[in-house]
Amino acid sequence: MVPAFLRGIGLVIAPGRRGRWVLLVGLALVVAVMEALGAVLVFSLVSLMTQPDTAEELPLAQPLLALFPDRSDAILAAFAVGVGLFFLVRSAVLVFQAYAQSRVAWSAGSMLSSRLLVGYLSLPYITQLRRNSAEYVRNCYDMVNRVVGQVLFPALMVTSESLLVLSIVGVLLFIAPSETVIGAVVLGPVVYLMLRVIRPRLVRAGKENVDAVADTYQALQQALHGAREVRLHGAKSYFESEYTRNHRRMADTQVMHATLIDAPRIAMETLLVLAIVVFLLLVSMRGGSTAGTLPLLGLFAYAVFRLMPSLHRVMTQLSHIRFGQAALFTVVDDLRLIAAESESSICTEDRLSFEHEITLEDVSFQYENAEIPAIDTVSLSVKRGESVGIVGPTGGGKSTLVDLMIGLLAPTRGRVLVDGADISSCTEQWHACLGVVPQTIYLLDDTIRRNIALGIPEAAVDEVLLERVAHAAQLGDVLAESEEGLNTIIGERGVRLSGGQRQRVAIARALYREPEVLVLDEGTSALDNATEATLMQSLEELRGSITLITVAHRLTTVRRCDRILVVEKGRVVATGTYEELLANNERFRRLEHGQAGPSA
Ligand code: ADP
Repeated sequence: MVPAFLRGIGLVIAPGRRGRWVLLVGLALVVAVMEALGAVLVFSLVSLMTQPDTAEELPLAQPLLALFPDRSDAILAAFAVGVGLFFLVRSAVLVFQAYAQSRVAWSAGSMLSSRLLVGYLSLPYITQLRRNSAEYVRNCYDMVNRVVGQVLFPALMVTSESLLVLSIVGVLLFIAPSETVIGAVVLGPVVYLMLRVIRPRLVRAGKENVDAVADTYQALQQALHGAREVRLHGAKSYFESEYTRNHRRMADTQVMHATLIDAPRIAMETLLVLAIVVFLLLVSMRGGSTAGTLPLLGLFAYAVFRLMPSLHRVMTQLSHIRFGQAALFTVVDDLRLIAAESESSICTEDRLSFEHEITLEDVSFQYENAEIPAIDTVSLSVKRGESVGIVGPTGGGKSTLVDLMIGLLAPTRGRVLVDGADISSCTEQWHACLGVVPQTIYLLDDTIRRNIALGIPEAAVDEVLLERVAHAAQLGDVLAESEEGLNTIIGERGVRLSGGQRQRVAIARALYREPEVLVLDEGTSALDNATEATLMQSLEELRGSITLITVAHRLTTVRRCDRILVVEKGRVVATGTYEELLANNERFRRLEHGQAGPSA
C-alpha cells in the first residue's frame, strides 16, 4: 500500500515540479535543526541563569568581558538577546515554511486539475463519452481538492513534523538520556492508551458526520426543490423537523470531533504540569536545591510543549491521508488512462495539407454495446472543392459517417485518409482544416462574437472576418435586434436565441475558421426555407474553393450538390446527382416523398 501511495504522489506531481518538493524536504530539515538548536538554547539559557559563573566559558564571552569589565551579567544579557533574536528568526522561517508548503501543494493542485482537464479533452472522443461529464467535473475539482487537502499537504506536514520530533528527541537523548528514556516509558503508554480510546470514537464521529451532512443536505434540497408540493400539501413543518433533526445530528458530531481531537493535547499538557509540580515537591521535601535540576526541567518543558502539537499534527494528518487515499487513487487511475489512451500526433504542421481528396477505405464502425455496425465497409472519396450531400432515413448512419470523416470517431476497421495520410495520427491538424455545424449546437453563455470566435484570444480576433462571416451566416437581423450587436450576450446555452438563430451563430463559427472543408450535419434544419435558401446561396459563392459535406433531412438542401450519397443501414446504397437519383432510384424517390422510415 505504501509504495503504491508514494508512486501515486509521484504521479500527481507534475514532472517539472518535483524539485520544489525536494526543496521543501530540505527546508523541513533546516527547521528541524533550528528546533533542536532552540531546545539547546533554552537549556543553556536556564543553565546560565542558575549558574552565572559558567558564563565566561561561552563563545564570544572574552571579547564581551573586555568591552564591559566587571559586568559579567552583560554576557548573560547578550546571550538572552541572542536567544530572543534566534527565536525571532525561527518564527520567520516557520512562517515561510507554512507559506511554501501551502503554495507548493496548492499550485500542484492547480496543475493537476489542468492536466486532468486537458487529458480528458485529449482522450479519443468515444472514450470521453463513456463516462458521465459529472464524473470529470468531480475529478477535476472535488477530487483534486481532496488530493491536495487530504494527501499532499498532510504528507508534507507529516514529513516536516516527524523530522522535527526526531530532532528534538535527539537533543533530549543527548543532553539527558536516562530522563528521556524514563519519560518515554512513563508517557508513551499513556499516549498510546489515550489514542486507543479516542481514535475509534473519532473515526465513528467522522463517519456519522459524513452521513449527517448528506442527510441534512438531502432534507434541505427536498424541501426547496419540492417548494410547490410542500406548500400545497402543508408539509412545511414536516420538512422543518426533518431538517432540524439532521442538522442537530451534524452539529453533535462536530462537537464530538472538535472535543476529541483536542483531548490528547490537553491531557498531555496537564500530565506535564502535574509531573513538574510533583518533581518540585519532591526536591523541596528532600530539602535539596532546585537550581541544578531547573535547566533540565526547562528543557523538558520546552521540548514537550513543542512536541505535543507536532505529534498531534502527525496523528491528525495521518488520519486525513487515510481518508484521502481513495481520492488519490481515483485521480492516479485517470492519469494512467490519459497517458495510455491520449491521441498522439505524428504531424509537425499546424494544419494538414488537403490538396486532392478525402478517402474512406473499407471503413466500418461499431458503437460499444451495439450489436451491428453503424457503418459497414464503406469506401468512398470526396474530391477537394466538391460538394457532397448525404441523405437517408433516420438512424441510417449519416452522422456516424460524418464523424468518421472528421476524425471524431476512429474506424473499428479500415482507414480514413486525407491525401493519403491517415487522419488518426493527425487528428488535431485535420480538425484545423474543418468547419463543422453539428446537430446539437453548443453555445457559451457569452457574447455572439465570443461564440463565433470560439477559443480565440480576444486580442487575436479578426474583426473584418468576423463581420464577413456573420453576414454570410445571415446573422444580420439578429445583430440588428440589439444595440449591442456582436456583443449581445446570448444567455446560458443560447436560451435567448431561437433554434434557427443558434444555427446561424454555429454556421458563422464554422466559417470564421476559414475552413477547407465545411460540414453541415443537419446544420440548416432549424432555418425556415427562405433563410436556408439565402444561406445556401451565400455558400454557393464559396463553391470550388471549399469542400462542402451536407447531411440533410430536406432534400432541397442538397439539391445543388455535385453528388448525393444515400446512406441506409450503415452502407452507401446509391450515389448520383439529384436528378439522376430522382430518375433512377426508388429509395431516393421515397425520401423525396418523405416516406422513408428508420433504417434500423
Ligand atoms: P443518422 O445520422 O442517419 O440518423 P446515426 O449515425 O446517428 O444515424 O446513427 C446510426 C446508428 O448508430 C443508429 O442505429 C443509432 O442508434 C446508433 N448510434 C448512434 N450514436 C450512438 C451511440 N453514441 N452509441 C450507440 N449507438 C449509437
